[in-house]
Amino acid sequence: MPSRTVEDYLKHLYLLEKGGQTPASQVAMGGLAAAVGVTAGTATSMVKSLSDSDLVDYEPRAGVRLTRAGTKLALQVLRRHRLIELFLVQTLGLDWSEVHEEAEELEHAISDKVLEKIDTLLGHPDTDPHGDPIPPSTGSPKQEKLTPLNDCAPNTTAKVARVRDQEPEFLQFVDKHGLTPGAQFTVESHTPSADAITVRPHDREPVTLGSAAAGKIMVKVGR
Ligand SMILES: [Zn+2]
Repeated sequence: MPSRTVEDYLKHLYLLEKGGQTPASQVAMGGLAAAVGVTAGTATSMVKSLSDSDLVDYEPRAGVRLTRAGTKLALQVLRRHRLIELFLVQTLGLDWSEVHEEAEELEHAISDKVLEKIDTLLGHPDTDPHGDPIPPSTGSPKQEKLTPLNDCAPNTTAKVARVRDQEPEFLQFVDKHGLTPGAQFTVESHTPSADAITVRPHDREPVTLGSAAAGKIMVKVGR
């Protein structure tokens, strides 16, 4: 089994590649170092060793990209992380704002046997509590076409699909105002010059968000 450090690098690389504008774009060393929380020098020597193991393609100055083998391992780590998060919320009753930190530890420790039992217990779910897709045991997760909330015009009706921030305070805010994945809402007003969008979750009071917060909530437009 790859070490915890290797798994963390591969996972962060995958998330950075998917966050890029073009699919499988090369990731700059500085961005990877920041995501993992190490210096650029430390990241570079680790990436060289991952390249020796054929888990990444590394071009000095251009950046780094996962190989097919690296992508496969990264997806396995994400599958463990996201299934664990859902298990902690649905089965153990933890709050969705506190499970990310727990999953960061458990994702490196859980066996395939226990993981597949959890998957069966939960009914082979597609998404974790934050709406992030759970990769299947083989292959890539389905990518749904989603829109950032701050791109929605007034009177749009939409459903929250994914919350792209794991910070407990933000998640608690989202929960308090009824904007968790699955929630329907209507955009009441959108004033880009004031950096504000006001939405009314169905059966809740309206809430106003700034564009930074609204950009972290991904929605599916329509009923
Ligand atoms: Zn998480």
